Amino acid sequence: MDWYGHTFAFKVRVDVEHVEAQRYIGDFRMTKVSVINLLDLLDEISVKLSFCVLGITAEFYPNLIAEVIEAGHEVYGHSMYHEPALAERPLTEQRHEMRRMREAIKNAGGIDVRGVGIPHHGMADENTLRAIAEVGIEYVESRFQAKNSVLPKWRSIDGTNLKVIVPGDQSRGASDYTDRRPYWAQVHEETFSPTNAKTKWMANIDWAKENGRMAQLVIHPWMLMVNPGEVKVIKDLLIYARDQGAWMATV
Ligand SMILES: [Zn+2]
Repeated sequence: MDWYGHTFAFKVRVDVEHVEAQRYIGDFRMTKVSVINLLDLLDEISVKLSFCVLGITAEFYPNLIAEVIEAGHEVYGHSMYHEPALAERPLTEQRHEMRRMREAIKNAGGIDVRGVGIPHHGMADENTLRAIAEVGIEYVESRFQAKNSVLPKWRSIDGTNLKVIVPGDQSRGASDYTDRRPYWAQVHEETFSPTNAKTKWMANIDWAKENGRMAQLVIHPWMLMVNPGEVKVIKDLLIYARDQGAWMATV
């Protein structure tokens, strides 16, 4: 498996969503502060990542999104509003969200997003895929994955001639976490622990290297503001992946 001249890949997705900062830490402004700090950190270690941006955040902080793009990172969509989850809503509503998201990000950063990361752990349905394809987006990260495939694949959408690209199901992923979201306790059963997080996430990178696959990590700027030690963990991890020879995957 050749990952653009590397033997394995590491993909970090940064969810830029000020409404979630408001909900869990009571201050939407923390998203902006955190993203700016993160841009500095990434510049210092010369790593480019993928930023998954809510349309409403792009509308609220257009300059911030423009700065992310200017710094050479990839920007793609994370729906318009984040709430409510997309799955099971009518096609027209979902399509409206996708169109608004695309416009908001274009107005902020001047780009047409080509991908979207579906919120709520990828809660999408067939109408989500259709809405995405109908507004001209090609790639979608959600619960839909290409079976037994390392690479992304085209997937047909039921009842249409449309297709979207979905990721393969052979990578390993993780997300940062915090006890500000108590219902995540089922998965993590702990407050954020920098030591445990680093151990788990590094093991995913080692696994990807051993098997020629991709490891993924989703991080949330608002969590970087409240999780002691997470910024340092992310920095160490990115340097580690790069030194191990990872291709820093983008969408
Ligand atoms: Zn999100």
